[in-house]
Amino acid sequence: MKAITLKAGREKSALRYHPWIFSGAVDEVIGDPELGDTVEVYSYKSDFLGLAAYSPKSQIRGRFWTFGEKANIDREFFSDLLDRAIAARKSRGFDIDDKESAFRLINAENDGIPGCIIDKYADIYSVEILAAGAEVHRKDIYELLAEKTHCRGIYERCDSDVRKKEGLQLRTGCVYGEVPDEPVIINENGILFPIDVKNGHKTGYYLDQRDARRRIGEISKGKKVLNCFCYTGGFGLYALRGGCEKVYQVDVSKDALKLAKEGIMRNKLSTAHATHVEADVFQYLRKCRDKAETFDLIVLDPPKFVESKDNLQKGARGYKDINLLAMKLLAEGGMLATFSCSGLMEMDLFQKIIADAAADARRRVQIIERFGQPADHPVNTAFPEGQYLKGLLVQVV
Ligand code: SAH
Repeated sequence: MKAITLKAGREKSALRYHPWIFSGAVDEVIGDPELGDTVEVYSYKSDFLGLAAYSPKSQIRGRFWTFGEKANIDREFFSDLLDRAIAARKSRGFDIDDKESAFRLINAENDGIPGCIIDKYADIYSVEILAAGAEVHRKDIYELLAEKTHCRGIYERCDSDVRKKEGLQLRTGCVYGEVPDEPVIINENGILFPIDVKNGHKTGYYLDQRDARRRIGEISKGKKVLNCFCYTGGFGLYALRGGCEKVYQVDVSKDALKLAKEGIMRNKLSTAHATHVEADVFQYLRKCRDKAETFDLIVLDPPKFVESKDNLQKGARGYKDINLLAMKLLAEGGMLATFSCSGLMEMDLFQKIIADAAADARRRVQIIERFGQPADHPVNTAFPEGQYLKGLLVQVV
């Protein structure tokens, strides 16, 4: 038998179905489990708590597959989880049979497969595995995915550095069917986006901002828009469709900007109304400030600034900096849609940072809307860490 026992009191989170076992909670490891092996988990009183995937190198030493149940962690187990995820998505309007749409089918811990992300881009699936348990069972997962979705191809994007913490090698490649070199075209709310599944960020695209992008489209009419950290131009394409007067798309990535321009052509939107700028946003905002430029609508959707608890303060300074600058650039009545995808930065703190930025910019600012994750990025109630994306729409009055 392979098993771990927990220290006294450390069974509490498992009893509340939290999927993680931290290294400090482990008392004893029995039977020499290897990376990704399934272990039985017991409390200090020898009560059975569940089955977990063992991860000898990670701070997160185990991730639960089941609670209080000795199921076989096999093909059938994953088949059931995939079926549930497919049905849940369908009930929320995300259908695997729609050959043009894009959505997250498996959202890791929140869908019962810790560390496993599966994104659908038209008829191609892009998979990112970040934990040892899912890594060990990946062949079953890929075969089941191909069977259930009848997709054209599955591509592995196992190239995130997070894998190193788990003791996993980095790897990418086609694992089923065929995945073209050229971008896959998806339809998001009627806008076509070219997605580079093989080389784009993460699994290729930021599906989690779909709802916010649509909202920006609705409030862009006639506005001069600044889309910071634009990646492949998502918010900007919606702004153009929404009838903005002009959109400035700013990102450091040349490849992302190339796709942003391609997206404009593909959707027959006006290139004359868009300017693409390859620049560091921190510097670009300062340049605009020095030139006393103003905008009616600014989008700030930066990458994750807070990677660990130790750099929460540093990350907070980064958010403060760009938000302060953005507020100074807002025209009278101008709006700022500002986001943070750092899970460790909670909404309360984020809102305080925005308040500080407004105060320092000497502007009177109101919060008029809040943003979160869309329904294909659900949050397991037992796993608050699953809630990472937050945003505010604020207006200078
Ligand atoms: N808003 C996008 C997603 C943004 S992801 C969407 O809707 O799809 C964050 C982006 O920030 C990435 O494209 C990355 O290239 C860019 N980036 C990171 N640091 C940057 C910096 N300092 N200046 C400009 N762009 C930056």
